[in-house]
This record gives sequence, C-alpha cells and structure tokens, in this order.
Amino acid sequence: MTVTKEFLKAEREQSWRVDIRALMKNKERTGLTRVHMGEVAADERVKSNIEVNSGLTKEEAMAEAQRCLDCPDPTCISGCPVEINIPKFIKYIEKGEVLEAASVLKETSALPAVCGRVCPQEKQCEAKCFYWLKMKKEPVAIGHLERFAADFERESGQMAVPKVAEGNGIKVAVIGSGPAGLTFAGDMAKLGYDVTVFEALHEIGGVLKYGIPEFRLPNSIVDVEIEVLRKMGVKFEMNFIVGRTASIDDLKEEGFQGFFTGSGAGLPRFMNIPGENYIGILSSNEYLTRINLMDAANPLTDTPIVSGKSVAVIGGGNTAMDSVRTAKRLGADRAMIIYRRSMEEMPARVEEIKHAEEEGIEFMTLTNPIEYYADETGRVNRMKVQKMELGEPDSSGRRRPVPMEGSEYMIDVDTVVVSVGVSPNPLIPSSLPQLETTKWGTIVVDEEKLQSSIPEMFAGGDIVRGGATVILAMGDGRNAAASMHNYLQEKLNA
Ligand SMILES: Cc1cc2nc3c(=O)[nH]c(=O)nc-3n(C[C@H](O)[C@H](O)[C@H](O)COP(=O)(O)OP(=O)(O)OC[C@H]3O[C@@H](n4cnc5c(N)ncnc54)[C@H](O)[C@@H]3O)c2cc1C
Repeated sequence: MTVTKEFLKAEREQSWRVDIRALMKNKERTGLTRVHMGEVAADERVKSNIEVNSGLTKEEAMAEAQRCLDCPDPTCISGCPVEINIPKFIKYIEKGEVLEAASVLKETSALPAVCGRVCPQEKQCEAKCFYWLKMKKEPVAIGHLERFAADFERESGQMAVPKVAEGNGIKVAVIGSGPAGLTFAGDMAKLGYDVTVFEALHEIGGVLKYGIPEFRLPNSIVDVEIEVLRKMGVKFEMNFIVGRTASIDDLKEEGFQGFFTGSGAGLPRFMNIPGENYIGILSSNEYLTRINLMDAANPLTDTPIVSGKSVAVIGGGNTAMDSVRTAKRLGADRAMIIYRRSMEEMPARVEEIKHAEEEGIEFMTLTNPIEYYADETGRVNRMKVQKMELGEPDSSGRRRPVPMEGSEYMIDVDTVVVSVGVSPNPLIPSSLPQLETTKWGTIVVDEEKLQSSIPEMFAGGDIVRGGATVILAMGDGRNAAASMHNYLQEKLNA
C-alpha cells in the first residue's frame, strides 16, 4: 500500500457535510458562549506541582461540543499539523459517545492527552475555526475538548490500542523519544514494522518529560500514552546514546534498515555577557531537567538545586515561563521574567503568560541583562540590566529592541535562569559526516518526504526545525513514517 498525503486526506473525508449558511442561521449553536475550563486558584497552586487546568466535566464538554457548526469545509483540520478530524471527534462528544471521540483522535495523533494540554491551539486549529475567522467570536474550545476525550478514555480504563498490521519483520530505529520520535514509532508500528526507540536519557518522552513541568503536563499522562505504544509492539532502549553507545553503522549491522532522527534541540544557548559563568546562573534546560527528571528540588538528593529567593529568568518563551513558574513553586519570593521586547512580542502561549501573571510573576519587559556580579564565594548576587526601546522590525518581523543609553540599573538576584533559545542537538550530525546540515546545525531534509542526504535516514521535529512545537514535531513524525514506508517498500520491490 502506498501512503500519500492525498490518501491521508481522503481518510478524513466525510458524508455529513451540510450547508454552512443554514448552520450560521442556527442560533441554537451560534448563540452559545464558549465553556471555560476550571483552574486551581493561583495562591493554592503555587504551593505544589498540582496541574493548573482542571479539565471539563462531561456535561461541560457536551455543551461546548454543541457549538461546533459542522462546516462543509472544516478549516480547523487544515490548522492541525496532524490533521485530526476535528468535527468528527467533536460530534461524537456532543452525542456523549466519548470513547468513539477518543478513537477518532487516535487515528492521527499518538499523543492526544498531551496535545490537548500543550498545543498552541490559539495559533493553529482554533485560529482556523469558522467562529473566529468569519464571525469574530471565540472559537470552539478544540484543545479542551481533545484533552477531555483523551482523559475520559484513560480514566475509563478502556484505553483502546490502535490496530497494527501483521509484522513485516523490517527493523527500523528511532533516535530520540520526543513527540517526533514517538509519533513516527506509532505510525510505523501500525504499518507492521519492528520499531525500536533509542533514548539517551533514562526516561522516555523528550521535552514532554524533561522540559514541561508537572503543573502543565503530568508525567503520568505521558506515561500512559507511551504504554499504548508499547502495547502496539514498540520497543524502547533507554540510556542509549546513538553515536556513542552504538553508531548508526553498528545498528545497521544489527539489521536496522531505516532510521528516523528526532533528537531535538536540547543544546542551550547563552548570551555571552560578563559574569555568565558565576555559580547560580544556569540554562533553563539544565534547571528544568534537573528538577523534572533528577528530583533536584529535593535537598536530600545527590545533586540538589539551590532554591533561589530572588530568581531572574531571561527570555519570553514557553521555556522561560515554565522556569519562572517553577522557581515560584520552589519558594522564590521574587520570580522575574526579564525580556528585551514588550509583552506583545512575547512568544510564550497566552495561557502561560496569564497563569504566570496570576501567580505573581514580575514581568520586566524592554529590559536586558548586560553583566552579572558575584559574592566572595563566586555565587551571583546582582545583575546589571539596561532598558530597551523598540526600533524597526528585524528579519523575524518583530520590532528590534534597541538599548537606551544611560538607562542601566542593578537588581539583586541569587539565581539566574537563561532561557534565550536552544540549538539542535549536535551528536547525530557530528557523528555522520555525510549527513547534510545547515549552518545552524539542523538536519537538511526534503520538505515533502523528510528524507535526509543519507537515503535511509529521515528526520523531523526540532532537529530539523531548530525549536518549534510539539504538534509540528508530531506532524513531522507522521509524514516521515509515510515516506519511509514508501521508500522501504519500493526498495524491497525493486
Ligand atoms: C520547557 C519547554 C516548554 C515547552 N512548551 C511547549 C508547549 O507548551 N507547547 C508546544 O507545542 N511546545 C512546547 N515546547 C517545544 C516542544 O516541546 C518541542 O518543540 C518538541 O518537544 C520537539 O520534539 P522533538 O521530538 O523534536 O524533540 P525532543 O522533545 O527534544 O526530544 C528529543 C529526544 O532525543 C533524545 N536524544 C538526543 N540525541 C540523542 C541520541 N544521540 N541518541 C538517543 N537519544 C537522543 C533527547 O534526549 C530527547 O529525549 C517546549 C519546549 C521546552 C524546552
């Protein structure tokens, strides 16, 4: 069977399309207001790692599902990188058939409970919702409904395991167990391949486990979705660094015929300003990984992290927001975001910024660090910052921050978390000289097929995009699986 994009699109074609104008006149639906999800109160949630959003009840989910207009051309689907059949799963929720809704999600998404929590729906499917596009009304809460259906299925104890084709005996290796690798693994297992995921760390999940904190995405939820992959026959090798523990050639000798690299962008970036090497200044990657995976918030562990009382996090992305909110939960009296642009340019999800503000995070925008100072033990104790103003737009289209002369001032800090971006993980590219990479270290792939300059190696997620989103990584995993399947079958039949 040849799996093409057209085939995947055809899969979601439905016969229930109806006249949109008639639906717009349907005030029973368009007159309903969006149901909002409950949250744990800010003063309560900062005392622990409890999940902030509490999910929808079945009644709330069914009420929200009623708003979906069943558009003849469901633009929301085109906003989803894995092309979930959104109206179909929502209509099942409306009828109260939630397990059916969950099974629609699983047709195209290996991680619905994860995506329902962390996807930037406001920029993707919900941004393409008819309510938002044409009526300037709040879009259907697609993300909240996705989370509801996935949680309902998990809590019902009836987790369906997707059907897998009869084994074809062809071994494929996945390097990295983030969302790109897991999605690829699930799709290849469905097609009957013998899939092994190799992961450098001792936990499976990539950023879902080591980056995103429990209060946004509990690890137990990621584990349940990984368990489904195990039941589909996917094998996992932890503490296995491809390029160190074994080379690609070693794996070829073991019979692996196809490789998918989803090794992410876990290499932290620093600003290279004076004093950045002082004790107490660390990357968000190290800060979050040690806390999330190594229990470093516990003072009794071998490698505890000193919980700062005055913590500055440099940056304005999701990683910065996760770091600063973590610092607050570890007992910081003052937890600050220091960001060189204004609130409007901040790349973090709107929801994360709102939650951070509610939790008492200070936002020092149009401010940039220029030097750090330390006490006699070498631990950071102050930082010099400079005010900025916005100039002309730069290559990213955002207005360039320009330093304001004479505006420098000092802030007392005891911990600084630098969260100014990441670079691609260099190990796979550096261990394969014949692999074509860009000057930024990302792997060059054919845009459609995601095939690299080494024909049997495909790649996707942050190692190709250089830092993007969970759902884009998943979309890559899905496309790469379809392409590798075609490549291996053609090779076999040649
Ligand atoms: C703190 C944080 C918060 C984020 N929040 C959001 C959010 O709310 N929403 C969103 O959509 N996106 C978010 N992102 C971005 C998102 O998590 C990433 O875009 C996504 O995880 C990329 O997936 P991936 O599979 O490409 O790589 P990763 O998730 O980075 O996984 C790569 C894996 O490969 C492993 N690996 C690397 N090299 C090797 C090797 N040689 N051998 C074996 N294993 C190897 C790594 O250990 C890692 O586990 C966030 C990122 C961070 C850091």
